[in-house]
Amino acid sequence: MHVIELGRDVMELNRNLAEQNKKILDGHGVFAVDILGAIGSGKTSLIEILAGKLSEFRVAAIAGDVVSDLDSGRLNAAGIPSVGVNTGRECHLDAHLVKRAFDKLSLDEIDILFIENVGNLICPVDFELGSHKRITVVSVSEGDDTVEKHPMIFVTSDAAVINKIDIADAVDASPQKMRDDALKLNSRLSVFLTSIKTGEGLDDVVNWIRDAKENQVE
Ligand code: MG
Ligand code: ZN
Repeated sequence: MHVIELGRDVMELNRNLAEQNKKILDGHGVFAVDILGAIGSGKTSLIEILAGKLSEFRVAAIAGDVVSDLDSGRLNAAGIPSVGVNTGRECHLDAHLVKRAFDKLSLDEIDILFIENVGNLICPVDFELGSHKRITVVSVSEGDDTVEKHPMIFVTSDAAVINKIDIADAVDASPQKMRDDALKLNSRLSVFLTSIKTGEGLDDVVNWIRDAKENQVE
């Protein structure tokens, strides 16, 4: 009983902080997009590519990792101003960690902020960060039953990127099945089949982000 009450308080606190984060972002004209997905699904690569294609915007990133600064280091090296957030023992970012990362960014100089979560499809679902859109990335190499195995992340996302379709045959996965599963869970979801290797589908993701950014209410 005690644990359940505590859990409820933590979630409530996080939701309030997420709302504050959104106000801060809107106040600075920053459009924020969460990038969720398993380790190795291609989150960091996707951010790199999207930032390059969204060249009319000033793009920055917050990269969450349990330990290490590998992802933020990689993004910085690619010319995307990035802050690494180590979650320590936690397997997800929360609104408080993201708020602290804001202090290390010049929000007035950012148009689009990508927030790369820790690689996992389960508990990041429950922690809103204050962003405007949530994109979940899954790779066909995770198996084409991975969407049906993780329903909540697709229910709570705005878009799903089904990545690495160039290797679908090799890993015996059907990207179409993954898309159908995702739409069955959430008919409002925008679903993109992509390959970072061949570039397929990436422009559609870029256009979706552009449209969403244009519709940001400030
Ligand atoms: Mg990464
Ligand atoms: Zn977690």
